[in-house]
Amino acid sequence: MAEESRQRRRARPVVAIDGPTGAGKTTVARALAAALGFTHVNTGAMYRAFALAAAMRYTEADLAKGALGARLGALLNSISITLDGPRVMLNGRDVTDAIAAPAIADLASRLSALPAVRERMREWQRAAGRDGGIVMEGRDIGTVIFPDAEYKFYLTARDEVRARRRFAELAARGSDLSFGEVLAQLRERDARDSARALAPLKPAPDAVIIDASDLTVTQVVALMRARVEQASRP
Ligand code: C5P
Repeated sequence: MAEESRQRRRARPVVAIDGPTGAGKTTVARALAAALGFTHVNTGAMYRAFALAAAMRYTEADLAKGALGARLGALLNSISITLDGPRVMLNGRDVTDAIAAPAIADLASRLSALPAVRERMREWQRAAGRDGGIVMEGRDIGTVIFPDAEYKFYLTARDEVRARRRFAELAARGSDLSFGEVLAQLRERDARDSARALAPLKPAPDAVIIDASDLTVTQVVALMRARVEQASRP
């Protein structure tokens, strides 16, 4: 019955994937969306693009003071963030590489705790998934953005495994951060994302928790796909 009323509201399902930094959400969400013929929405990329816009507008000292609340809300209303496949556009400019920087991830994590920022993001993200047919990844998709998502996954992995992945990604981009520094940053960001008052990182009570520490991307996608396709069978 609940399933029927959901079907009436949305023609196709919403798949929510949440989890901590470096668990492989983006790779998995992109592959799952392609396999299902769904759209992939990376909400972390939206927060990062906003952080980049804030870093271009304000000094680090102003941002660190934390007194820019309303002005940051206005800034968010004045910019355009669009996802073009794997590319991220800020005001029509491709910022995919710029937002991969650890400093931008850190700023995104700090700014994402602000109510004005989360409210606006929530509107955008709900609008993007209104008709379903979407794989949306982030920290609060199954808990806050789509608490009624048909499928919810919480993808995690041991800290060292996640840091190793992030370390390799950053090294490939020319970063000279050590593994220890990457691990410390990852733990700090997760702690902040989990401790914030608004939409903290945590699994939805009805999420399927997948520990990907010892699984390949193909195995994780197959697990998720099996869940979705099994439940969709008549
Ligand atoms: O997923 P990614 O690491 O790119 O996200 C960057 C930051 O954006 C996260 O550390 C988190 O603070 C924030 N974020 C969030 N809610 C989401 C997605 C990301 O608060 N749904």
